[in-house]
Amino acid sequence: MKKNMNGLLAGLILVALGLQTLPARASTDYPPAIWNPAASCNYSARTAAISHVTIHTTEGSYAGSISWFQNCSAGVSAHYVVRSSDGQVTQMVREADKAWHVGNSNGYTIGIEHEGYTNAPATWYTSAMYNASAALTRDILSSRGLAQKVFDGSGGWNAVPSDSLYNVKGHVNFASQTHTDPGSGWDWPRYKTLVAGGTSGGGGSDATLTWPLVQYGNTGERVRTIQYLLQQWGYTLTVNGSFDTATQTAVKNFQSSRGLGADGIVGNATWPALTIVTQQGDSGAKVRAVQSQLNESGYGLVVDGIFGSGTDSAVRSFQSAKGLGVDGIVGDNTWSKMAW
Ligand SMILES: [Zn+2]
Repeated sequence: MKKNMNGLLAGLILVALGLQTLPARASTDYPPAIWNPAASCNYSARTAAISHVTIHTTEGSYAGSISWFQNCSAGVSAHYVVRSSDGQVTQMVREADKAWHVGNSNGYTIGIEHEGYTNAPATWYTSAMYNASAALTRDILSSRGLAQKVFDGSGGWNAVPSDSLYNVKGHVNFASQTHTDPGSGWDWPRYKTLVAGGTSGGGGSDATLTWPLVQYGNTGERVRTIQYLLQQWGYTLTVNGSFDTATQTAVKNFQSSRGLGADGIVGNATWPALTIVTQQGDSGAKVRAVQSQLNESGYGLVVDGIFGSGTDSAVRSFQSAKGLGVDGIVGDNTWSKMAW
């Protein structure tokens, strides 16, 4: 008996050692991720084609969330979990299966959980996590030939825009939800830029960008751009190219809402907060800003707020003329060149 017990113990130790030395298995859907499956009681078969991505916050630790999705008491799951400290990605449900993370929208979405707490975004929403998550979302969209329609915060962080407008949005942005993640601290314009692909092209944002100082009394196209962008953020004002008191008030309110000093002056801090990544398929005031700016450079576009192929060609031509990476995406690098 004692001998048997020893044998059993030795066997258990070997199993434990063996498990410890096994390399982490890679995900087949997304090779940079670790495959660590959820309990099969926490997900089911797909009921619709994948068309959307849902951004979540765990409201708990990375390890705790992984272990929760492996517990049948959870009754919830997500396809991926991203670690705050370094952006490590764990896949828990195959993309071909339906994870349970966003109620009625589970059937057609892929869920990405981000380690952290919505009430402490500065602590948890790290660059490493944004970068890793954006690369994953880019892969999900591109592997299905889906256009990038990433929510940009228009209408407010907790807006519920229609699924046809955006195919990447937060849990809170889907219809009929009770959760508020990823919260007001998730930087949607930044995430959209990252999904579009890094910082080198016209769609990106270089850390060294400088912007013109624009304030009360100024006139011209860059004032018009500021007014269009304020409209896009939901402020009501007339686009007249004149930095009047109404514009100044809107700028101050916008600055307050973003935690910036509310001095009513648009400079290096306010410009990048104000600009929104804009690309083919987009519509609205931000597109009018792009079209109107390009017309200043002689492109002769109809300022209709619809980013079609004509606007795309003009953006690419402008980017080429300014020595930017030519990607047709108006990110901070391109906005800055237009604003000067
Ligand atoms: Zn959620």
